Amino acid sequence: MRLSAYFLPTLKETPAEAQIVSHRLMLRAGMVRQSSAGIYSWLPLGFRVLKNIERIVREEQDAAGCQEILMPTIQPADLWRESGRYDDYGPEMLRITDRHERDMLYGPTNEEQITDIFRHSVRSYRELPKLLYHIQWKFRDEVRPRFGVMRGREFLMKDSYSFDVDKPGAMRAYNKMFIAYLRTFERMGLKAIPMRAESGPIGGDTSHEFLILADTGESEVACHRDFIDADLVASDIDYEGDLQHLVDGFTDKYAATDDERDPAKEKELGDALVIARGIEVGHIFYFGTKYSKSMGAVVAGPDGEETALEMGSYGIGVSRLVGAIIEASHDDAGIIWPESVAPFKVGLLNLKTDDDGCVAACDDIYAKLRGAGVEVLYDDRPERAGVKFADMDLIGLPWQLVVGPRGLKSGTVEVKERKTGERPEMPLETALAQLTA
Ligand code: ATP
Ligand code: MG
Repeated sequence: MRLSAYFLPTLKETPAEAQIVSHRLMLRAGMVRQSSAGIYSWLPLGFRVLKNIERIVREEQDAAGCQEILMPTIQPADLWRESGRYDDYGPEMLRITDRHERDMLYGPTNEEQITDIFRHSVRSYRELPKLLYHIQWKFRDEVRPRFGVMRGREFLMKDSYSFDVDKPGAMRAYNKMFIAYLRTFERMGLKAIPMRAESGPIGGDTSHEFLILADTGESEVACHRDFIDADLVASDIDYEGDLQHLVDGFTDKYAATDDERDPAKEKELGDALVIARGIEVGHIFYFGTKYSKSMGAVVAGPDGEETALEMGSYGIGVSRLVGAIIEASHDDAGIIWPESVAPFKVGLLNLKTDDDGCVAACDDIYAKLRGAGVEVLYDDRPERAGVKFADMDLIGLPWQLVVGPRGLKSGTVEVKERKTGERPEMPLETALAQLTA
């Protein structure tokens, strides 16, 4: 993409309304614009990152055997009356009346909707287990929408739902999601720590939140120091194998969100205790028959008796992750994207657009990189070098390929790695080989 043609409305001034760094940087880098409180439009640069995050989430869900569907944003209130949550949910739910005076709502989550689909489609335990997910916009009329996309009112969530005939089956599904979440966040360059959590309005008795530690996190959390020091990666997973020992390896160590903290255990940990602030990027719940009983979602069990489905639900804050990744990865100059979610891999900077040699060289590099399948943002604008450097650092692409007349004379360019700030000069061919590898 040529920057001269790209819609990238960057801001020089720091927007006064933004309290935390990710919100400031997302506005300054032209990624989003606020529509109304907690509701955002995604501009090209931000949308590319959102899509990359969504893709990683999708790939890891698919790998774990979860099947993608798409449910609507608008749901009938009657389903929520059946579960009892229409009244319980309170003012966070956006309630809508259609032209026929039917009560509808903009879904804050989809347990009722999926239970309804399931109860009409599945009759026998033989059709179980099933794991389904969708990636869809949610609406929660938060009292205090803030921090940009981190606590929005409209936000993109991946939510999965598991259906099993008994509790051991449900725990197998829970473990699959537990491991899939570790892998998902790891691929985004995040260390998300699984912590014991309260289930809140979703209900149920087993639940973990996945939190990344950051000073701007909204809640105080505590965990064993091992989580900070060790790698959380779970490699080469056989999702059909026994995952319990793997999950136990994580849950055996102390890690708790604010409601679940245990002063006695924390005292025992002594120096191994870390207290920090956390951002919740994912949350998994086992809630048994809470919805299946109230909504009559039953199957014929092996003995022919009707039995209520054992269920769980599993959420990832896809749009929140855009902000969370920035909170975890930035410096004074701007964003530092991990390569896996970066909007482009390479920024190509032509430092002298009125120099025919530079233009020809850059056009050629641009064609070669694109030919090799590399996503490039080509700064071909007639701007000062200082402006170009500042904009590239702000938008945080992993690599900058800097082309100027002086280097070109000897056939060299500069390759800056955004993360380390290192900017070695090298022959153009070497640079191309490195960036297309
Ligand atoms: P929180 O405690 O932050 O309000 P929650 O526990 O109510 O979140 P869940 O129902 O667990 O949220 O939703 C699953 C995921 O969706 C959360 O882990 C979070 O990443 C994301 N999420 C929840 N609320 C919001 C929001 N208002 N804006 C952006 N993302 C959100
Ligand atoms: Mg939660």
